[in-house]
Amino acid sequence: MIEKVQNLIVGAGISGAVLARLLAEAGQSCVVLDRRAYVGGNCYDYKDPCGVIVHKYGPHIFRTDNKEIWDFLSRFTLWHPYMHKVKGYVDGQEVPIPFNLNSLYQLFPQQYAARLENKLVENFGFNKKVPILTLRKTQDKDLSFLAEYIYEKVFFHYTLKQWGLKPQELDPSVMERVPVFISRDDRYFQEKYQAIAANGYTALFENMLNHPNIKVRLNAEFSAVSKEYEYERLFYSGPIDEYFDYSFGALPYRSLRFDLRKMDLTQYQSAAVINYPNNYDYTRVTEYKHFLPLSSNKTVVAFEYPSDFKLGENERYYPVPGEKSAALYKQYLEAARKEKNVFFFGRLGGYKYYDMQTAVKDAFALALRML
Ligand code: UDP
Repeated sequence: MIEKVQNLIVGAGISGAVLARLLAEAGQSCVVLDRRAYVGGNCYDYKDPCGVIVHKYGPHIFRTDNKEIWDFLSRFTLWHPYMHKVKGYVDGQEVPIPFNLNSLYQLFPQQYAARLENKLVENFGFNKKVPILTLRKTQDKDLSFLAEYIYEKVFFHYTLKQWGLKPQELDPSVMERVPVFISRDDRYFQEKYQAIAANGYTALFENMLNHPNIKVRLNAEFSAVSKEYEYERLFYSGPIDEYFDYSFGALPYRSLRFDLRKMDLTQYQSAAVINYPNNYDYTRVTEYKHFLPLSSNKTVVAFEYPSDFKLGENERYYPVPGEKSAALYKQYLEAARKEKNVFFFGRLGGYKYYDMQTAVKDAFALALRML
């Protein structure tokens, strides 16, 4: 039997779920497919028996300055207000990341740190964020020394591990995510709204998809089940290269492996995330317990190991922002434009390095175009 539906949406991650909800609330019928056994995409989390909520695909901290996005998501979850702080293990010390004035004073003799602080403020201004690749262009001798120090100790080796590329080989937007911050603010993000879904992100997306106009079908491969539907429009948040049978070649992605360890400790480390730019094969260690209030004498910690994405072996995490991949993606985009009533969106459909808020924003924009 063929089922009639207005919108067939592939992917029950953040992009697919937001789009489905908006279309459903406008009175349109939606079927949402996902090949995985659960909703939430890479925001998926679950509760370990010891009570700790684990983000299966790595730490997700929601943040936005956009009240509309915040209010929309707040309909589907209670929040635990949480200001993310990250430390980096540099020269035997745990210092705030992004590298800021507190990091500077922790690592250098006070007088020298004061001199560098004055020069930073003089050249860039207080409370300013300076991308490391910009700081490296400075003509000042002291600042140039500092820039090379931060580049070497914080960015270079971390980026090699994370991407298999040097910082300059990636689109500048990647390094700009973690600028040097001429401030004493130790938070990783400065957005107005920052929080973790109090009952987990999976519950948030389950609530979002819980609507009379939405049917969710899990463990469902689009290529296998699409014949069962007659649809007016297809919204595809799966990998765009897979949709076109890799006809121009596979788009590159970086993948991650998490070595998850449960420990009989109340606390393993001093912050939710500690970065290890140097020396270790892993890039960072996440202790999930810091994200939500919980009293347990156990803790769950994830050591994060990056690698290339290999089809059938691991999962797609990060699109690789750079010239070569952009050129390849453009070919797929041109093919996509020729498809009638098919729309590609989301991290995999749009081949974009998304934060949660950007995925929501783009799904909003797509829904607006449709309604
Ligand atoms: N980065 C780095 N050292 C750090 C933190 C970040 O070199 O201590 C670089 C690295 O290339 C990383 C990018 O900045 O991939 C973006 O970092 P972010 O924390 O935003 O990555 P995500 O949380 O999205 O994995």
